[in-house]
Amino acid sequence: MARVYNFSAGPATMPLPVLEEIQAELLDYKGSGMSVMEMSHRSKVYQQIIDEAEADIRELMNIPDNYKVLFVQGGATLEFAMIPMNLKKNGVFDYIVTGAWSKKAAAEAKKYGKVNIIASSEDKNYSYIPDCSDLPVDDDADYVYICENETIHGTTYSKLPNTKGKILVSDQSSMFLSRPCNVSDYGVIYGGVQKNIGPAGLAIVIIREDLIREDVDPKIPIYCRFDTHANNGSMYNTPNCWAIYVCGKVFKYLKSIGGLSAMAKLNEEKAKILYDFLDQSKMFKGTVEKKDRSLMNVPFVTESAEKDAEVVAATKAAGFDNLKGHKSVGGLRASIYNAMPKEGVQALVDFLKDYEAKH
Ligand SMILES: *Cc1c(COP(=O)(O)O)cnc(C)c1O
Repeated sequence: MARVYNFSAGPATMPLPVLEEIQAELLDYKGSGMSVMEMSHRSKVYQQIIDEAEADIRELMNIPDNYKVLFVQGGATLEFAMIPMNLKKNGVFDYIVTGAWSKKAAAEAKKYGKVNIIASSEDKNYSYIPDCSDLPVDDDADYVYICENETIHGTTYSKLPNTKGKILVSDQSSMFLSRPCNVSDYGVIYGGVQKNIGPAGLAIVIIREDLIREDVDPKIPIYCRFDTHANNGSMYNTPNCWAIYVCGKVFKYLKSIGGLSAMAKLNEEKAKILYDFLDQSKMFKGTVEKKDRSLMNVPFVTESAEKDAEVVAATKAAGFDNLKGHKSVGGLRASIYNAMPKEGVQALVDFLKDYEAKH
């Protein structure tokens, strides 16, 4: 077995102990005589898997009782539509656009109402988070929307926006469970799990109960209504049984290492190793304003696109995979999610240091 250090932005690296446990249970899950892949989602044994997964994420994030946890297919992208469809009252939606993902979400919301872009960092290629302390929030806004960690551009909010009393909706796809989160600051938190938690094909939606409405547009597909999922324990139809099972394992793993504050401490240490290197390097340069740097996705560049490509090729040959920046921005990007060990980040920095010295 030769596992590489995988810096992919998603689907992404997972904790080895979780993969090993899954492997051990693959053919016969806890004496059931079958794989979780083969199980009825209506069986007792599966019900226990989903119940424990929900209980464990509730414990990890300290989710208050008046919030529902929903397991929905369609990834984060389907939520771009489900959120405006389900939260629509006045049909006015305020978006803060800090990168590709919030831009896509705003474009999708336009199909369902009036979208105001109340702040944007597009002027500087999304390399910072705008000051969100006093934004022109619309009196009629049904919610204020952010992408809390922009996966492609590598920015994150150090402070949540002042929404002036409106509900905050946050896409946490690429920072889910990376640090403690005060759930009651939000109306909705959601994310695709394939960045920082588990396998692709599942979004987790954490939503305040009073925002789950039954008087939504009756033409909304039944699958796209939050009440459908909330009223049926996320099993109105067949859920992504496998992804829920694997995420459940990751939740237990995170609990075993001390929960989200322990995870946050480790993530800070890991990011510091890489940013400290970038800050002193003459060859490599981080692309984000220091105060807004993501702990999860670290984009950086050399002096030219040719050199960027050379470095990517050299890292790959040395056992560091997926360091090519997103096609829309170029350069390099190291995604150092929860499951990336500190040794992986240190090894990458050692390699880049050596590369710089030799070139
Ligand atoms: C990857 C990503 C998405 C899209 O996720 P899908 O599950 O592929 O739909 C949305 N938002 C953010 C922040 C992402 O990183």
